[in-house]
Amino acid sequence: MIAEHTGYCRLCGESKVLRRSHIIPEFLYAKLYDDLHRMLGISTKPSAKIELPQKGLRERLLCDSCESLLSGYETYAVDALSNPTVEGLSGGRGLVSLEGIDYSRYKIFQLSVLWRASISSLDFFTKVNLGEKHEKMIRGMIYSGTAGPLWRYGCMVFFLSSEESVVEQIIMQPEHFKFGKHHMYRFVLGGMVWVYIVSSHRATSRQGIYSKMITVSGELSTLKIPIEDLKFLTGAFQDFINAGIIEKASKLIPETE
Ligand SMILES: [Zn+2]
Repeated sequence: MIAEHTGYCRLCGESKVLRRSHIIPEFLYAKLYDDLHRMLGISTKPSAKIELPQKGLRERLLCDSCESLLSGYETYAVDALSNPTVEGLSGGRGLVSLEGIDYSRYKIFQLSVLWRASISSLDFFTKVNLGEKHEKMIRGMIYSGTAGPLWRYGCMVFFLSSEESVVEQIIMQPEHFKFGKHHMYRFVLGGMVWVYIVSSHRATSRQGIYSKMITVSGELSTLKIPIEDLKFLTGAFQDFINAGIIEKASKLIPETE
């Protein structure tokens, strides 16, 4: 019998049986179940309710061996992100630091999320379009295990704080915006905000956009930001509440707003 789901693996390019690959790694979904075991997805369109499927957003993209390759990076990332040092500041803010991170493994993990979102045909990732040139370059970096310099597809990492654990249950539809000439992609997932910079050129150091990335020497020094401080998030969050999906989250938004 011919296998039903044979196709060209998007990472190695070989014709093989394709697995239903997660676009956003499963461990970031682990926190995403509410009391009713639903996943919570947020769209930036006010009326759009997004109910994420029980097993996450998946698509047949990769063969078995490429799935294993990526899952190795994911296993590493779970470890790398656990137990950051947090120094509390006023107003729910904090300084977050991590050290001893393997720059290459961590970066390739983050690149793999961006790349999968870009090649995905799922509606949820419709705003992530890297274009052929960047997709091809990132595919090569992932497949060969080459992390490249900090500025090449680097990703800023911020942690979200909230009195409600629901913050870790949010997964927001990734968005694109521009910063000068650079294309930026913003993901909200697993209690974090990731902002990737996609550009063929290094930004001027003045712009300081590389300071919240994991350095080549394996350190991250970043911020914990109250969810209420992030306009793009509170707006979407309010829409979500208006749609009646997560009542318990309403405590996060001041009623006067
Ligand atoms: Zn493959």
